[in-house]
Amino acid sequence: MATHEKHCNKCGEDWPADLEFFYSNPRTTDGLAYCCKACYREQVAAVPRRQTVASASPHMTDCIAPLLAGPARSGSAA
Ligand SMILES: [Zn+2]
Repeated sequence: MATHEKHCNKCGEDWPADLEFFYSNPRTTDGLAYCCKACYREQVAAVPRRQTVASASPHMTDCIAPLLAGPARSGSAA
């Protein structure tokens, strides 16, 4: 069992440095994520993925919709 404790950058708590409390992250020196699982989940939940997609897709759709709608429709119709 891991006796070493890892400091979570998010909540500032020290947790056992194992996969029970931290997700694995090959990029870090110890192979564990920077923040604990609880904070990681919060972080992931807080990231507005839908917002990003939603704000990006209407913009993109606005731009390419007229371009795609015409040729695509006439192309599939014909
Ligand atoms: Zn934490």
